[in-house]
Order: sequence, then C-alpha cells, then structure tokens
Amino acid sequence: MKVVLASGNKGKLAELGELLAGAGLELVPQGALGIADPVEDGHTFVENALIKARNAARISGLPSLADDSGLIVDALGGAPGLISAHYAGVHGDAKGNIAKLLSELQGVPSERRTARFYCCLVLLRHAEDPQPLIAEGEWPGLILEAARGSGGFGYDPVFFDPDTGLGAGEMPPEQKNPISHRGRALAVLKARLADWIARGAATG
Ligand code: IMP
Repeated sequence: MKVVLASGNKGKLAELGELLAGAGLELVPQGALGIADPVEDGHTFVENALIKARNAARISGLPSLADDSGLIVDALGGAPGLISAHYAGVHGDAKGNIAKLLSELQGVPSERRTARFYCCLVLLRHAEDPQPLIAEGEWPGLILEAARGSGGFGYDPVFFDPDTGLGAGEMPPEQKNPISHRGRALAVLKARLADWIARGAATG
C-alpha cells in the first residue's frame, strides 16, 4: 500500500521510515509531492494528527499517515505539550525550545522533573475515512539539567530514560526507536494494520 507521510519533520521522517521498514507500506513524504503542513489548530494531539493526515490525503489522493507528538512536563502543568514544536516562538527551533524548557525548570529538583513524550499516529484510507486507525504511545522519563549527546532531534538532548540510564540524545536510532513514544505507537499500529485493511476492504 502506497501511503503519503503527512510530515515535513526530518527527524520524524527518518524514524518512521526505519520503524515501518517491512510493514508493507510504501512511504512517500508529503514534501516530495509539494504538500506543506496545514495549520494545526486542533485542541488535542489526536485532532492535530487528523488535520495533518486529512490534508495530505485530500491533496495527494493517497492513503496518509500522520504523527502528532510532543513533550509533556509534569512540573509545567503539561507544557510544552501541543506547542512543543514552537515552544520558544519559532517552529522547529530545537535549541530555543530546549533553552526555554531548561530555564522554566531552573531550580526544580530531579525527582520533580518527570516528563513523557507522547505520540499519536493516524492512518487514513482517504481524506473522508470515517474509521481512521489511531495508535498512541508514551515514553516516560526525566528532564536533564543540561543537554547530553547529539543524536535524535527536538528535545532528545534533555530527555533522560531511567530504564537504560541514557539520554535520548545519547542513543543510536536502533536503541531509541523501539522504546520511544513513536516506536510504541507504531507497534500498536502494526499490530492492528492487517485487520484495519481487511475491514476497509469489507466495508468499502
Ligand atoms: P508536531 O507533532 O509536528 O506538532 O511537533 C512535535 C514536536 O515535539 C517536535 O517538533 C519536537 O520538538 C517534539 N518531539 C516529538 N517527538 C520527539 C522525539 O522523538 N524527540 C524529541 N522531540 C520530539
């Protein structure tokens, strides 16, 4: 099945490409079809993922897969959350976003620096698909006091995984991908994929 990937985020595209290798989906990034991100004005990650998936499916005429994700920090009441990509004001300014996050958490002790990455994936057969496949994943951890490592993207340099004792920015892709919020959401999506495709064929 040929699927347009409704994201222009290079970090996400790389991770989703690796994670979906062998899942029977031929992924085409929306940028290769000249499709830009729509305005993400939903009130939840699920709504925003649907907005992005519908936009890509409508313009391309193909099935689409969208990822809406973000970092949820407990001591900040859930911020940056939905605005993770532009927390410091400029979309995709990872350095600025990290600087703002560390400054907001200045003086907060490690036991209160709990956080989680969240990912919602939406797969649509077409733009008006009334039965999207929605899969969610979370990755619990802690926010470090200073950046560590140079791997990954976004907030990875300041996200610490207690299970491995490593920062996400210190992990090679093959270590981050299976345990990350995106990897966990993808595992859920893959487990439901065959049934979802069969249901679409049966109901038209
Ligand atoms: P959006 O889903 O395009 O609205 O943006 C999600 C934002 O959340 C990204 O731009 C990153 O700042 C952050 N984010 C999502 N997933 C990750 C990840 O795996 N590592 C680091 N940051 C992430």
